[in-house]
Amino acid sequence: MLPIERRQQIIKWLDKEGSLPISEISTRLHVSEMTVYRDIKPLLEENVISKTSGGISLAPIVNPPSNVCSYCLKELHNRHPIQIITNDSRVEQLCCPHCGLLRYKNIEKEVSQIICRDFLQNSTISAKMAYYLMDTDFNLNCCQPQVLTFGSLKQTEQFQRGFGGIILRFDEAIEEIEKRMNGSKGCSCSHERLN
Ligand SMILES: [Zn+2]
Ligand SMILES: [Zn+2]
Repeated sequence: MLPIERRQQIIKWLDKEGSLPISEISTRLHVSEMTVYRDIKPLLEENVISKTSGGISLAPIVNPPSNVCSYCLKELHNRHPIQIITNDSRVEQLCCPHCGLLRYKNIEKEVSQIICRDFLQNSTISAKMAYYLMDTDFNLNCCQPQVLTFGSLKQTEQFQRGFGGIILRFDEAIEEIEKRMNGSKGCSCSHERLN
């Protein structure tokens, strides 16, 4: 058997059986443990396999850190993002409160925390406590209908005096966005992306 054939055989076994000791592989392939180590060296270097307490196994697939919105899949630019933390400690990034609220609605039972930023101060606030300003003249250039989030009612009202719009609470904001989306999925930005 050529080294490349042995490598393929090792991968097949690991795929089927999980983890295998080097000694076992050496016996099965009728080669020395030294040879097995030489065979698997490139596989270890390329992260195809990894060392375990019992020998070697296929390396777990690691998802690259997400830099797209979990709802509309638009690339994150982090101007007014929202974060959702699920019950199993997964962190989802959403491009703007529009997507944050719609995503929340989709996976409501799995959500442990939903966090947004105060639009003026950039401080972190719980989205459920935030004030939402809709229909302002200020354009985030993200998803429509757009909402801005604020930590205090006073500041929301100040911003409203300058830029107009209506003030909503968490549940009202979700309801209003859904109503205006008129049952359609995603948001305007995802359509732009697809076209
Ligand atoms: Zn989005
Ligand atoms: Zn967006």
